[in-house]
Amino acid sequence: MSSLPSPVSDALFTRALRLIPGGVNSPVRAFRSVGGAPFFTKSAQGATLTTADGRELIDFVCTWGPAIHGHNHPRIKAAIAAALEHGTSFGTPNPYEVEMAELITRFVPSIQKVRMCNSGTEATMSAIRLARGFTRRDKIIKFAGCYHGHSDSLLIKAGSGALTHGHPDSAGVPAAFARETIVLPYNDRAALTAAFAANPGEIACAIIEPYCGNVGFIMPDPGYLQYLREITAQHGALLIYDEVMTGFRLHKAGVQGLQAEVVGQVADLADFSEPAQRAGLQPNSDPKSKILITSDLPDLTCLGKIIGGGLPVGAFGGRADIMDMLAPLGPVYQAGTLSGNPLAMAAGIAALRLLDEENPYARLDALGRCVRDAVIAAAKTKGLPVQVPQCGSMFSIFFTPTPVRDYATALTGDAKLYAKFFHTCLDNGVYLAPSAYEAAFISTAHAGTAIDRACEVMSGAIREL
Ligand SMILES: *Cc1c(COP(=O)(O)O)cnc(C)c1O
Repeated sequence: MSSLPSPVSDALFTRALRLIPGGVNSPVRAFRSVGGAPFFTKSAQGATLTTADGRELIDFVCTWGPAIHGHNHPRIKAAIAAALEHGTSFGTPNPYEVEMAELITRFVPSIQKVRMCNSGTEATMSAIRLARGFTRRDKIIKFAGCYHGHSDSLLIKAGSGALTHGHPDSAGVPAAFARETIVLPYNDRAALTAAFAANPGEIACAIIEPYCGNVGFIMPDPGYLQYLREITAQHGALLIYDEVMTGFRLHKAGVQGLQAEVVGQVADLADFSEPAQRAGLQPNSDPKSKILITSDLPDLTCLGKIIGGGLPVGAFGGRADIMDMLAPLGPVYQAGTLSGNPLAMAAGIAALRLLDEENPYARLDALGRCVRDAVIAAAKTKGLPVQVPQCGSMFSIFFTPTPVRDYATALTGDAKLYAKFFHTCLDNGVYLAPSAYEAAFISTAHAGTAIDRACEVMSGAIREL
């Protein structure tokens, strides 16, 4: 545990513990799985958090994903300030919502229509209701270790804080609801085949984090996502990609953008991204393959995190014929007092425009590789088995000799060793997620001294294990 005194944070935490369950408004912020008490942050700028005690930390949590441009980016700040001049919420349609919808549908080709909401949880919950309403079926498939927010049907074998704190199956979810959720191992084709065979005509949809980021970071085996697309289509079930975390993080069109580049759907193959190449994907210039990819796309996609530029947001969208089942056009009800909020839209629009202008994905991947290589090299010298799955600006460190490809293998990671590593990093000014089962995030603001220093600190922390 940390040896550095933090009197201001500790005093705040004591007050918080009296009034807020566990002292935190989201369990992932608690330090219970790594030991010690969380620090409070008083400000954040670029790659750096400043704690209430005045310590500066290089931040690899990036507010759990949204801060791809680093904290408090001047362009996003200016956009919020400009929107604020006109009011905070109108309860009528506002111009920002239209621009946001235009940006999302332009960047993510599978999204023909989109509905904004206030969190990723709302996005996945609503997408599932929509899939059930559209197919008139009740059962859904989810994958062990994937986290899709905290709605009832989805808190079963869930990742993220639910797993970190020992409750992947939440109390309070009625057994009758849980029975409608079929949980399968990620990356297991035979399990998919069997589930569809055992529930003919009953499965409304499969929801997946196409690259899983909530049980640590896990990549799909080659061809796995294509198989998932094929089998869902065959059985008349919808495929929902939960890209709340990966959307705009790995590519402007998320994981589906990486997939599309592979088969040459993206016009400019010169732009074939480094993350896609390194994920073992090959660009394909065969024009016939374009037909193939069209059927590779998900029916619905959930977004959040980055598209809010650091303000609360979520969105779900996809095929127009499905989206038009939503109220007020159709019978599937979904609503939100603050949905499409002008401040959140202004922040998100600024964040997306920056991504469009800068196209930082190759740069971010170089930073990710830098960390991965440093950690692997240090572990090798030390003779310590480690897995560092990484794609673009997402990575995880699992202390295990077992390649991590699903929930079960993620759990082979040594959580006690991670806790030690976490605290040594923190004591030396590098903040990683306080859990062995979370992905780390890099921002464009990490380039330069922050990434160099972080690599040094992480290597040093491994030597000390
Ligand atoms: C964060 C996350 C959610 C939930 O989003 P909230 O805004 O926290 O409700 C859902 N799905 C995935 C993949 C996430 O990473």
